[in-house]
Amino acid sequence: MALIVQKYGGSSVGTIDRIKNVARRVAHHYKQGNQVVVVVSAMQGETNRLLGLAKELTSTPDPRELDVIASTGEQVTIGLLSIALQTMGFRAKSYTGGQVRVLTDSAFTKSRILEIDCDRILTDLNQGSIVVVAGFQGVDGGGNITTLGRGGSDTSAVALAAALKADECQIYTDVDGVYTTDPRIVPDARRLDTVTFEEMLEMASLGSKVLQIRSVEFAGKYKVKLRVLSSLDDPESNEPGTLITFEENTNMEQAIISGIAFTRDEAQISLMDIEDRPGIAYALLGPVAEANIDVDMIVQNVSESGKTHLSFTVNDTEYEKAIAVLKRERDAGRFTARDIKGTKNVCKVSVVGIGMRSHAGVASKMFSALAKENINIQVITTSEIKISVLIEEKYLELAVRVLHKAFELDKAP
Ligand code: ADP
Ligand code: ASP
Ligand code: MG
Repeated sequence: MALIVQKYGGSSVGTIDRIKNVARRVAHHYKQGNQVVVVVSAMQGETNRLLGLAKELTSTPDPRELDVIASTGEQVTIGLLSIALQTMGFRAKSYTGGQVRVLTDSAFTKSRILEIDCDRILTDLNQGSIVVVAGFQGVDGGGNITTLGRGGSDTSAVALAAALKADECQIYTDVDGVYTTDPRIVPDARRLDTVTFEEMLEMASLGSKVLQIRSVEFAGKYKVKLRVLSSLDDPESNEPGTLITFEENTNMEQAIISGIAFTRDEAQISLMDIEDRPGIAYALLGPVAEANIDVDMIVQNVSESGKTHLSFTVNDTEYEKAIAVLKRERDAGRFTARDIKGTKNVCKVSVVGIGMRSHAGVASKMFSALAKENINIQVITTSEIKISVLIEEKYLELAVRVLHKAFELDKAP
């Protein structure tokens, strides 16, 4: 008998018909003799709707209360799915994160899971029940409801799979696996049979929202067998989806680039004519970090007569806050800058692949493909297995398409 954890995202439980469809798939796996724990998200659009209600009251709602509100979306779907399963004659029982006791820290709206108590779930499984758990949520040491950040149900599922030592964690969504890039942008994108854990980690962190990054981190840490599959096809079709692998791919045919990730959630901030002296980067970016704002790409120009420019990117939701911090520091005399300016009209496009380690020329191929379309690159960052560029947002789709073609991702390796 295998223990499997299945996770169904918002689109997979977006209507009562789809919930019935999920129930049929869960039942199919249960009838094959497996113990099944199901993690569900809120119905599609529901989390946005709930958070929107709070934003109608104030632009700066209390994060603790936001979690109280947002977590209700998942509470509805666990009940609905359990009823759907019961209607089909199965024993099913739902739990909120707090009821399981998914213990998290107290960083409201972006909490991290610390510990999961599996006792209730194991008791129910051993009595023949299907257990349905609310994704995206937990409870902190003080009993406050917390949530795990947008897309967090993936992380709930993988963390549960790790805690329960499940045989497999299956992430069911509206696409049938991980693709070479978002199939909504490039219709020629190809489904990958496997993708290495390292590549998936990069793709998730660079914007491929098919898996929340923390879920991939969990899978790596606890070696959870993780698979992405479609919730929309026939439950009995047994399509394999995409498996996240932990072995180095030793196949010589391994493509150099596995995928292209992108994100529009970028903002760029530039500080003009700052003095070029030891400690200047710290004087600028220290206070930004202290304000809990993550800085991503950073470039500093070569200085001329003791002055230089420095640019960096932040998530666009933190743009105004970052500008305010910098202006405050400048006005307090901690550094001088002729101007502090920026834009949210930028996006980041990244090519990812472990094949890059052993192949030269990936960067030049990327830059030439973008140059041919007259797309200006504003900032470049690299790591061993990825190259990212910051470009004007209006070129996002074009850039992704031409790179997909330049690296022949539409063709099987
Ligand atoms: P769910 O509601 O099931 O959690 P998400 O919308 O969070 O689903 O994630 C699935 C979506 O991720 C797909 O519909 C697709 O548009 C997008 N996506 C982005 N990059 C990729 C990729 N490389 N492969 C597959 N899907 C991707
Ligand atoms: N419902 C939450 C969200 O929309 C969590 C999730 O879907 O994974 O972000
Ligand atoms: Mg998701």
